[in-house]
Order: sequence, then C-alpha cells, then structure tokens
Amino acid sequence: MKCYYHNELDGIAMCGWCSRALCTSCATEVMHGLACKDKCETSLKEAYELNEFSKEMVRKAMKSSNINVQTLSTVSYIYYSYFVAGIISGSGFLYVGIRDYLDTNDSSYLMFAGLGLFLFLMGCVFFWIASRHSIESKSLESIKEE
Ligand SMILES: [Zn+2]
Ligand SMILES: [Zn+2]
Repeated sequence: MKCYYHNELDGIAMCGWCSRALCTSCATEVMHGLACKDKCETSLKEAYELNEFSKEMVRKAMKSSNINVQTLSTVSYIYYSYFVAGIISGSGFLYVGIRDYLDTNDSSYLMFAGLGLFLFLMGCVFFWIASRHSIESKSLESIKEE
C-alpha cells in the first residue's frame, strides 16, 4: 500500500473520509480518525459531528416520545428512532456528498450522496413500519375493549 499522494512512500493509514492510503506527512488526526491533510479534514470532522448530532436527535426523540409511550408499541418506538436517525444522517450525507462533488468534481463523493439517499429512504421505510405497528397495536387494544 503506497501513499495516494506520494507513490514512492508507504501508506501507514487510511483516510476516514475518502479511504485513500496516506503516508505520515499526508495524514492528520481528526477527532477519532485520520484524514488527508488539508483535503478531507473538514469533511471528516463534519461527518463525525453529524453522527453526534443524529445520536443526540434520537435521544431527544426517544425522550419526547416517552410522554405518550403508552400509545406506542415497543416495536414502533424502535422503528421511530431508526426513522429519525435515517432521515437526519441521510440528508446530512446527501448534502455533504453533493456539495463536495460539486466542489471537487470527484465522483467518489457521489457514493456518499447515494448512501445518504439510501439512509433517507430507509428512514421513510422505518416510519412506514412504525406507523403500521402503532395502528396494529391500537386496533388490538380496541378489539380487547369490545
Ligand atoms: Zn503522502
Ligand atoms: Zn481523504
């Protein structure tokens, strides 16, 4: 494995954003990972922050749904948190991916946009499953009452 930027040097690490091999002089530490110096630093940092942000949103969503937890079945409760995580991280990846693609014309960023779109759609599917489950549990309760 040779450094992507220096063909003569050995790569010691991989960029957490673009997955290219890096030598010691090209790698720079970004939060919990390594990135291409001056190239992927900001993008990787944003990705980490986005991840933290979506985790926080899920915590908040779960907290707020605690209020009417009786009306939600456990299954739909879990799917709702997947929905929140999917929509937030999905739209984030989509945004960063398209923006960086337009900036650099590097088609590997389209992969991120694609992943974002996929997460976003998964979020919608989870929402659909969650709403179906809450309808089912509601109708079961109404049957019991009759
Ligand atoms: Zn290098
Ligand atoms: Zn990189």
